[in-house]
Amino acid sequence: MGVTDVAAVGAVTTTDTSASPITAAQTFSNVNLAEMIATRLSGGSSTLTSNVGATGQVASILRGAVTGVGSGGTGSLDVPPELLAYGNGQIPRALLTPIGIGQHRLWSVAANAFTSMRSDAAAQGVDISVTDSYRSYDQQVDLAARKGLWKDGGYAAVPGTSPHGWGLAVDLDVSPAGLAWVRANGAKYGFVETTPREPWHWEYRGAT
Ligand SMILES: [Zn+2]
Repeated sequence: MGVTDVAAVGAVTTTDTSASPITAAQTFSNVNLAEMIATRLSGGSSTLTSNVGATGQVASILRGAVTGVGSGGTGSLDVPPELLAYGNGQIPRALLTPIGIGQHRLWSVAANAFTSMRSDAAAQGVDISVTDSYRSYDQQVDLAARKGLWKDGGYAAVPGTSPHGWGLAVDLDVSPAGLAWVRANGAKYGFVETTPREPWHWEYRGAT
């Protein structure tokens, strides 16, 4: 979110975020394992995207199971190498693409997926907006100061570990019906719900 969005986010109580440190080497293998299992369960297709809905949901569930979601963390996040090169919260603006809502941006691939999801939802009468997207390191520090760390009962990730710091997470601003739509369809676009207590927080895990 932009700095000017901080107050607004607090006002609608959609702060958060997930607190798991991201360990790239480990999470790559966990995700691969989950997807391998999901592929077997779905009848052998090699991609999640070709198995609309069901497989993505299975993969999401398995990812959670494999990586231990439940302690306030996100499980695994497959951080693209081009982002790892810069670091969490240090992503160059050129790698972040506007998503058509205020100043919000995501990593370009995630932004395109989000835009497609939002457009398809709109075509079905569902409005999807967001209250937060990419979050710089300084913004993560600010959020942690105001909302407290997850491990202490708050909502903020340890600065430098938030999925928002990779441009891979959005905090949705949707109606209950809208959230139901995203829960039914988000996986098709690579978005998964990852964090207990934060139904607004969705991460782009890609459609491999
Ligand atoms: Zn979030």
